[in-house]
Amino acid sequence: MTKLLVLGGRFAGLTAAYTAKRLLGDKIDVTLINNTPYAAFRPGMPHVAIGVSTAEELEVDLATALPAKGIKFILGTVTKIDAKKNKVEYELPSKEKKEASYDYLVVAFGAKLGIEHIKGWEEYGNSVCEPQYATALHEKLENWKGGNIAIGSGVFYQGTLTPRGKYPKNWASVADSACEGPIFELSLMVPAFLKKKGLLDKTHITIFSPGEEILTDIAKESRSVVKSLFAQAGFDMVWNFKLKEIKKDEIVDESGKTIKADLAIILPPYEKNDAVANSTPDLFDDGGFIPTDEHMRSVTYPNVYACGDANQVTVPKLGFLAVQTSRIAMEDLANRLGVPTKQEEYAPEVVCIADNPLEGFAIAVNDTTFYGGDEKIAQPSPTNHIKKELFTKYFMWTNGDMALDKYLASW
Ligand SMILES: Cc1cc2nc3c(=O)[nH]c(=O)nc-3n(C[C@H](O)[C@H](O)[C@H](O)COP(=O)(O)OP(=O)(O)OC[C@H]3O[C@@H](n4cnc5c(N)ncnc54)[C@H](O)[C@@H]3O)c2cc1C
Repeated sequence: MTKLLVLGGRFAGLTAAYTAKRLLGDKIDVTLINNTPYAAFRPGMPHVAIGVSTAEELEVDLATALPAKGIKFILGTVTKIDAKKNKVEYELPSKEKKEASYDYLVVAFGAKLGIEHIKGWEEYGNSVCEPQYATALHEKLENWKGGNIAIGSGVFYQGTLTPRGKYPKNWASVADSACEGPIFELSLMVPAFLKKKGLLDKTHITIFSPGEEILTDIAKESRSVVKSLFAQAGFDMVWNFKLKEIKKDEIVDESGKTIKADLAIILPPYEKNDAVANSTPDLFDDGGFIPTDEHMRSVTYPNVYACGDANQVTVPKLGFLAVQTSRIAMEDLANRLGVPTKQEEYAPEVVCIADNPLEGFAIAVNDTTFYGGDEKIAQPSPTNHIKKELFTKYFMWTNGDMALDKYLASW
């Protein structure tokens, strides 16, 4: 039987594993390796920080969810991909080293949160990017008495997209930040949380970005609306701020510029996964992401697919794009293995719902201008808040099987 090995078990890895099984059934033996026993629903982590969910409520238990659909699960950390020998090395929690071979590989281990690039992170850094960070931030917000808060994103160590994959040029470009959606969402959620606690008047908020301004991956018109919302709320805005250090009461950028921050809430720098350093070098571009063709096949090793944040083409790094790339990759695999399957084309779009659950509305963004398109929707409404809730419930109900995601995103 053909062996498919999937590295990573969140949006991209789960979609790849479930889709492969759905399309290929008994023709394929699917094994997924992930370094945590659960898949945490990342878009719900800001909600954990403001206390409307707990991290445990947003975790899919991989050891029960995957075998239920005929997929083998290994809890382990991938340390090396040998694309020339079709082998992967990984380490079990006991530190025992293991090897797995494959006929086809899906690399879906995402990007790494490069916290080591920020001096002072261990002492003063806060984030919502993983359950443990979101839970710790919730505690700090619960104990907040007033002062200065800075919210913004770290630098994206993306490289220069060299060599480029074989896909239309407009599909990927160099971005200022890997994903500023969570920052925008927190700029709605944190003030709402503080208002509820009667602490908003005692707090000064600064929003910062490493880019020319925030959200440079959506239309100028939408950005102007966001900036006027920030201005009306009395926030300071600081752009071109490439975060280097977090201190007790301020953050510092590469040029020495500072922002007052008793609490710094950061989307850490994104960079290549640690396993890249030991792996076959020409599988990756100069930033450590994988260049592929239009069907997500590596340009150098065609039996390797790259999906989600690990693929060079997904910019910004979005769950919506992660799910799409995996669907496309597994449709391609099904056709290769003799199961005629309708092949979807990659259609990049910034799709994001910035939720504000404490005030009962969300802003839904559907924007293609970053890719040369003309769609530029940024729509605030109570219905969009309900959409985000349904998106969360759908992920949890299906154990992360986002088969209907493209329909959800086009509501
Ligand atoms: C706070 C936050 C909110 C977000 N909200 C949204 C949103 O509302 N909508 C949206 O579209 N996108 C959102 N995103 C972006 C989205 O979460 C990511 O783009 C998406 O998670 C990428 O999926 P992925 O599977 O490619 O990578 P990841 O989510 O990074 O998953 C990689 C998986 O591989 C595992 N892994 C990593 N290294 C190894 C290794 N060496 N060995 C084994 N396993 C490994 C990880 O534990 C993880 O389970 C958000 C991001 C953040 C940080």
